[in-house]
Amino acid sequence: MIGAGIAGASVAAALTRAGLHCGLVLEREPLPGTHASGRNAAIARQLERHPALLRLTVAGVRRLAGTCFEGRPVLHRTGGVYLGQGDTASASELVAGLHAHGVPAEILLPLEAWRRFPFLQGFAFRYAIFCPTDGIVDIHALLIGLLAEARQGGFEVITECTVGSLLLEGSRVAGVRTARGEVRTQLVVDASGAWAGRLGREASPLPLQPLRRHLFVGEPGGSSGPMPRGAPFVWDLDAGYYVRPESGGLLMCPCDEAEHPPGVPAPDPAAAELLADKILNYSPGLGDVVLHRSWACLRTFAPDRLPTIGWDADIPGLFHVSGLGGYGITTSLAAGDLAAALIDGAAAGEMDASAFSPRRAEVVKGR
Ligand SMILES: Cc1cc2nc3c(=O)[nH]c(=O)nc-3n(C[C@H](O)[C@H](O)[C@H](O)COP(=O)(O)OP(=O)(O)OC[C@H]3O[C@@H](n4cnc5c(N)ncnc54)[C@H](O)[C@@H]3O)c2cc1C
Repeated sequence: MIGAGIAGASVAAALTRAGLHCGLVLEREPLPGTHASGRNAAIARQLERHPALLRLTVAGVRRLAGTCFEGRPVLHRTGGVYLGQGDTASASELVAGLHAHGVPAEILLPLEAWRRFPFLQGFAFRYAIFCPTDGIVDIHALLIGLLAEARQGGFEVITECTVGSLLLEGSRVAGVRTARGEVRTQLVVDASGAWAGRLGREASPLPLQPLRRHLFVGEPGGSSGPMPRGAPFVWDLDAGYYVRPESGGLLMCPCDEAEHPPGVPAPDPAAAELLADKILNYSPGLGDVVLHRSWACLRTFAPDRLPTIGWDADIPGLFHVSGLGGYGITTSLAAGDLAAALIDGAAAGEMDASAFSPRRAEVVKGR
């Protein structure tokens, strides 16, 4: 397993559940979860338009809701409120998609939304979709719990171990070369996040694009009360920003996107301006929030913005779990289950595995 982010941890744990009791998770950093998996907004959001992705997010949230590590639930079901600035036609479609999977969701017009969630009076919107089973993930509990499960199942997690290249026999995987020596194996899972899709494919990497995004933590000033602790996250689908309670203050995101090479991006001051613009225009009730911390990190996407989960098209023994975009936490457990099933040669269950295949046209034509 290349990478001890949420993808590597989840697939390793799922493989042990499927009966594979010997493996290595190799991570270049001193600590697991150093990149996207430890620097995200921790929102478990089921609402998606693409049918295959919707299936994966719904399954992901169901799995999160049923998971505890050391008695600690990993999902806190706060619910999610999605705001819209247009008419409700597209909202009806989104809600119907959730209902088709048995996920409760309802459209609220402003008066009803304000009655149910008085803090929404600080937000401008034409309608809201409330999805009560969405929530916030305890990232630390999830990542550490999955790695512990993988270790108990027979995996070893080795940090400060960069994988430099793939060892091939003919075109088949025979192992990896690391900074600390060679490892022989017939199966390599590339779960290397923003770096994914290059290992063994230097001449034709998978078309995975890391995009930088900023998060901000702030405190409301004197005049507006904060969103109450445990309130649903609020995500404006049209204006493109989200906000949720965080440690007595607020976590906020302007939903910015800028291409960036794999690595640790430096924050760009323009992102704070973008956030300020959106807040002033769409949530004036938060206009006096004082921002006191920000960071940037990378979300990685295939051209069609669907995850890439499956066997490499050209290199037998190489499996990809990457391109988890902005839903890698939401989908983590379901993606792990799917990957383990495909590696094991089992059926993909209710998932549409072909939509995520590295052999799908969108990925192949971009190489
Ligand atoms: C700002 C932001 C907000 C987000 N918010 C949410 C959210 O609210 N909800 C949600 O569901 N998702 C969210 N996401 C997306 C989510 O964080 C990612 O989809 C997910 O963390 C990706 O996990 P990963 O394991 O694929 O990648 P990573 O966490 O990046 O892990 C990959 C690991 O591989 C290691 N690695 C790379 N190359 C090598 C190598 N050659 N050898 C050894 N190790 C290597 C890296 O060091 C890294 O630790 C957000 C992302 C960002 C950036």
